[in-house]
Amino acid sequence: MRKAVLLRFGMILVLALAVSGMVSGFLMGNKLLEDNQKNLLHVVYMVEYTLHGKQDLQKECMQIKAQLKDENVRITVVAADGAVLADTEAATFDGMENHLEREEIRTAFRGETGYATRYSDTLQENMLYVAALSASEGYVVRVASSYDGLKEYIPSMLPILLLGAAAAALIAFVAAVHFAGTIAGPLSEISAKLQDKHTVPWDFHFPVYRYEELNIIGEAITGLAGEVKEQISRLEFERKVRQEFFGNASHELKTPVTAIRGYAELLDNGFVADEEKQSEFIRRILKTAEHMSRLIEDILLISRLETKDVEVTYSMVRLDLLIREIFDVVEPIAKKHQVTLCSQCEEVTLEASVRQMRELLMNLVVNGVTYNQPGGHVWVEIRADKEKVIIRVRDDGVGIGREDQARIFERFYRVDKGRSRKLGGTGLGLSIVKHIVEYNEGDLRLKSSPGEGSEFMICIPFSRNIL
Ligand code: ADP
Repeated sequence: MRKAVLLRFGMILVLALAVSGMVSGFLMGNKLLEDNQKNLLHVVYMVEYTLHGKQDLQKECMQIKAQLKDENVRITVVAADGAVLADTEAATFDGMENHLEREEIRTAFRGETGYATRYSDTLQENMLYVAALSASEGYVVRVASSYDGLKEYIPSMLPILLLGAAAAALIAFVAAVHFAGTIAGPLSEISAKLQDKHTVPWDFHFPVYRYEELNIIGEAITGLAGEVKEQISRLEFERKVRQEFFGNASHELKTPVTAIRGYAELLDNGFVADEEKQSEFIRRILKTAEHMSRLIEDILLISRLETKDVEVTYSMVRLDLLIREIFDVVEPIAKKHQVTLCSQCEEVTLEASVRQMRELLMNLVVNGVTYNQPGGHVWVEIRADKEKVIIRVRDDGVGIGREDQARIFERFYRVDKGRSRKLGGTGLGLSIVKHIVEYNEGDLRLKSSPGEGSEFMICIPFSRNIL
């Protein structure tokens, strides 16, 4: 990571130096050419002024050159027909070719200042030419000087250029090392923490870094780790609950199976000769089998409600009529327990599963009767509020202690095991009630005190997502 950042930095630096070198070289070259052209133009004007009205142009030109004290300057005078009238460099200019084709000469004869840079065959070096027309004499004065552009400055500039590049490289390297450190450091810290087997699983803490993006990465990891942790503990909890449930369920089923087998074996062995005893055993077998199938039905119902894998048919359920129907079924049991059933129900219609509603009310009413005393009552009140149905099932029975109130909705939890079993309870009734209320996005509350009675209050909203 660090190496890669440094390498990239190096590449960028070389590229930046090359581009800036090229651009500044181009600009400096242009400026240099412009300055040289300007200087030569001054010489052209000076020569033109000096030659004004003179006859021996060659001699005059040589004199001017001598005065200029510049070996490199070459003065040429070209007539309108292209013939060279004077030239400070060619020993004999008679043999010199016609100059009319030269770019700068042609431009000068058009009345403009002519500029050109090219290789001179006569002097065998690169030259800069500046030419202008002498309006009065009808010839062109051209001044040339050897010109190599920036090349001639390179030897003298090279040490400075190299020094500059080295300084830039050094500064860039220090900056790159620092930059790589501030980025690569936190990233390696983050990856080290992710790989560290000794950190508490999914428990990450990162310091505040200089760059916001790194903090975002750190926060995202911490957030994700938190969610994963939560998920894991939720799954772990669910696994435990399921395991416990299966353990309890098998235990609950084992007891009746053992009983059935015991009675059946006794009958099979012929130990029970008495006919009345035989039919008594058969009745017990049937009762136990009935209890078993109730238990299995309850287990299946809970598991289906839990996974929401229930094929539910919704219809408009008249809760007041349903209570009447339930009372008809429970009445004989209530009579046996000497408990009076009372209802005070409004005409309420709720869109729901009639099976679920029957199961819910039946469990609460039966419990109210079962955990009661002779002379006791069970009151059912149903009324509609603005957005919800309120169901209250109250009794003046044995009541439930504070510590049990929190647990009676757990599967298979019973306060009085003997009483529940004796009366055919599966220990799943209230758990089913709670599941049905949750399934219907409702609310369930319990008020109870031992010896005084209990009140279960359920609210179910009319409009629900499941509908
Ligand atoms: P069970 O099949 O044992 O009735 P439930 O889940 O319906 O199972 O109830 C769990 C336990 O809660 C019961 O065993 C009983 O001890 C207690 N309980 C339920 N309803 C009442 C009530 N109305 N009054 C007093 N105790 C109750």
